[in-house]
Amino acid sequence: MSDQQLQLGMDDALLALRNAWDQALEVLAEHVNKPSFESWIKTAKPVSIDGDLVRITTGSRFAKHWLESKHLQLIKEILETHLGRPLKVRVDLAEDNQDEPVILADKLPAKPNPQPKHDDEPISLPLNSHYSFDNFVVGPTNRLAHACAMAIAENPGKTYNPLFIYGGAGLGKTHLMHAVGQAVSANIPGTRVAYVSGEAFTYHYITSLREHRTAEFRRQYRSIDLWLVDDIHFLIGKERTEEEFFHTYNAIHDMGKQIVLTSDRAPKDLQLDSRLLSRFQAGMLADISPPDLETRMAILQTKAHYENMTLSDDVILYIAKLIRSNIRQLEGALITLHAYASLMKTSVTTSLAEKVLSKHFGESAPVIDAQKVLQEVSIRFHVELTDLKGKCRSKDIVVPRQVAMYLMRRLTDYSLPTIGRAIGGKDHTTVLHSCKKVEERMASDRGFASLITDLSAQIGGTQG
Ligand code: ADP
Ligand code: MG
Repeated sequence: MSDQQLQLGMDDALLALRNAWDQALEVLAEHVNKPSFESWIKTAKPVSIDGDLVRITTGSRFAKHWLESKHLQLIKEILETHLGRPLKVRVDLAEDNQDEPVILADKLPAKPNPQPKHDDEPISLPLNSHYSFDNFVVGPTNRLAHACAMAIAENPGKTYNPLFIYGGAGLGKTHLMHAVGQAVSANIPGTRVAYVSGEAFTYHYITSLREHRTAEFRRQYRSIDLWLVDDIHFLIGKERTEEEFFHTYNAIHDMGKQIVLTSDRAPKDLQLDSRLLSRFQAGMLADISPPDLETRMAILQTKAHYENMTLSDDVILYIAKLIRSNIRQLEGALITLHAYASLMKTSVTTSLAEKVLSKHFGESAPVIDAQKVLQEVSIRFHVELTDLKGKCRSKDIVVPRQVAMYLMRRLTDYSLPTIGRAIGGKDHTTVLHSCKKVEERMASDRGFASLITDLSAQIGGTQG
């Protein structure tokens, strides 16, 4: 396998970050006035993700300050929601603006450092102190996983080894894993706990190969007492990393050290080496499935309490009924609602929740897909579907094409790149630009605005 192939893991991470950033842009565009959005936010770029550290660069010192002081928390939450793990977000000045006349002490270490990284560098990603057993709500669908995690926290290496937790996205796998790590550190001081994701393991391994430090890599991993490996499915298709993982796994397990793994699917459905799968299957398998209504309500109550939000039972019931299969989305809904209410200086009622959330989160809302939008636009504007998706720049076609992008953005939960692909391979900046054009014209041309509102209602949404 070539180095280039080995690097795929990192490219995946950056790609995922860029997608998440597009989502963040969409939310920010709704919260921030246009001139500020254009000047300070659109010029910012996500440039790297390394472990849990996301770096964003901005074009000016003022933009950096503005982003940091006003929107960092929101950006962080959106990125965490989309990438599904706790992150740190750092805003830096873009390289080509470094010569601005300002001295930033914290800039100094960011200069290229020719020293290779060394030995004592920890391999563990940080554990999120909010992910504890205390604030994990137990219900029928996560009870087994929770009980196993508790047993391990009390007696690592002695009960179930490995513990393999699996289930869909946003159901609490990472939360439980962090809780185990923190409980063990607290109960048995001195335990060497290493929490890594499949992605981080891949990255460590690739780096050690590139820097000819595999011996050191192996030594580090073999000194672990409790190994927590999150999202093991990331190793699928990365043969060399998987091979290294297999040896690391055996070494740690043979020393009687505890291993906990998570994955989005059961071992039998993982396309990994069968030797590895049989080792997983020899341990304890615990699946987590989506929570029932009562558990969802309890989670919302806990989270609202933690965020200092007062929510009526009606609102809690509304959200818990709306979002059924992902706890991360449940929390995302709460944060979005909170942000809206505080921006609009209003209190959180069921009708506000309905207005704000149904568009983004509803699972029972009619499914509107790209095809439906394209079809309706094509009929209304008398344009062929192939022209909508084509490259022709004549005004008769450009306007409906922009309208189609705008409507997809309003009526579906597609990301900007997805909309770009649906309209025949345009990039996400074209999509953003098109939406802006349509919005501008709607603001100045009432006939056009009512046409769009009408079209939107026809497609199934409520408003343009
Ligand atoms: P996964 O790793 O399965 O994708 P996470 O562990 O990241 O999911 O959980 C997503 C979010 O939902 C986190 O913020 C987590 O704290 C929260 N969460 C998940 N399950 C529970 C639970 N049972 N009680 C409280 N919060 C939960
Ligand atoms: Mg996770």
